Amino acid sequence: MIVLLSVCIILALSFSFELTKGLIFDFRTIPFIFGLLYGGPRMGAILLVVLLSYRFAIGGEGVWAVLITYLILYVSGCFTWKHYQEMSIRKRYLTTIGFMLLTVLLLFISTAILFGSFAFFDIVFWLNFTIIHVVGVIIFIHLIEMMLQNYQLRNEMIRNEKSEVISQLAASIAHEVRNPLTTTSGVIQLLLKDEVKDEEKRKELLKLAKQELKQAESVISDYLLVARPYQNKVETLSIDEILYRSIEIIRPMANMNNINIVSELENNCYVTGEVQKLHQSFLNLIKNGIEAMPNGGTLTVKCKIIKGQSKVQITIADTGIGMSKHQIECIGDPYYSTKENGTGLGMMVVYRIIEGMGGKIKVYSELEKGTEFKILLPQTD
Ligand code: ADP
Ligand code: MG
Repeated sequence: MIVLLSVCIILALSFSFELTKGLIFDFRTIPFIFGLLYGGPRMGAILLVVLLSYRFAIGGEGVWAVLITYLILYVSGCFTWKHYQEMSIRKRYLTTIGFMLLTVLLLFISTAILFGSFAFFDIVFWLNFTIIHVVGVIIFIHLIEMMLQNYQLRNEMIRNEKSEVISQLAASIAHEVRNPLTTTSGVIQLLLKDEVKDEEKRKELLKLAKQELKQAESVISDYLLVARPYQNKVETLSIDEILYRSIEIIRPMANMNNINIVSELENNCYVTGEVQKLHQSFLNLIKNGIEAMPNGGTLTVKCKIIKGQSKVQITIADTGIGMSKHQIECIGDPYYSTKENGTGLGMMVVYRIIEGMGGKIKVYSELEKGTEFKILLPQTD
């Protein structure tokens, strides 16, 4: 933003308008105020330096008037900036327009003082000057607010994608929990009816019930680990453990689809990051693998340390439908999906999370053969 706005300022100053000799007008205030209000005092200061240096370099009369005018604007901008962030869009428009009017007023006064009279009072000029400033800044705000909204929308989509994964998992998890519950309730029924007289047999049945309940509990706690909102806690994580849990949580879904999961997890693959984000990345990759094998197949999940490079390598491969060259290029682009009910956000989230951790992702895929994702993450000792 600093670069863009600086260019705007320099262009505005280069294509200025000379009212009479030595009296130069232009629209540099628009990018300046804009940067100050959206970017804060620091960005404003940099833009101010750019503006003033270029203005001084050009020279001409009124340099001191410019200096005072922009210092006043800068200081008032600094005071407004904090509140500006919390304002509604309507108030932002009004505030920024207010700043434009203040600029015109300050320029008008300083011109009058500089020349000692209102000799340059040309009402048509000042009217035009004011209107263009106001309209210009309205267009500027409109564009940036649209961009900000887009950005927020995209973040929201990522969150929705997560809830979609979670609700899909919920269906298979519920299934997985029901079986142990059915067994347990059967056992209790038997015991209640007093049909089992043998003490040994009773104990065995109770043991079975306990085991089944424990199984249900572990399924639920695995699920909760993923379903909880992000906590943004960065810590040392063991990749093999996270992969193991991801596999366990997805196993019911794999079973329903006739998919065999093969895992080779080397111990003590440590990296630094946020557990839930990594969990989600792996789940997204594994889920894609499962979805690529509608007629069953094998899903391979591996992790190992690459000693020479201090990296942890994770491999997630399927024997599914594979991807064309074009698909490989598009993968990770937001909303790119070849599935009927796909969101096209799963891979984007994966790329963001892995790249955010300083990692890299490679894709190897062949149509009808399968796909392999290789992830390299920096190792933590
Ligand atoms: P979604 O799963 O909602 O379609 P993703 O971002 O997870 O969105 O994936 C984007 C696209 O990448 C998929 O629609 C699919 O075409 C392709 N893709 C991802 N993983 C695989 C895979 N393991 N095998 C084949 N195609 C895949
Ligand atoms: Mg997906």
